[in-house]
Amino acid sequence: MAKCNKCGKSGLFLRVNDKGLCDNCQKKQEIQLNSNQAQE
Ligand SMILES: [Zn+2]
Repeated sequence: MAKCNKCGKSGLFLRVNDKGLCDNCQKKQEIQLNSNQAQE
C-alpha cells in the first residue's frame, strides 16, 4: 500500500511518485518550485 511521505495519506488507490509524494503534494511542490523560479 502506498503512503505519502509528506501528508502521511495512505490508501489502496493512492499513487505516489518516485519521491513518495501523492498527487496533491506533488502538485503543491511543483507550484512552489515554479514560484521560486519566478522570483529569480
Ligand atoms: Zn501527500
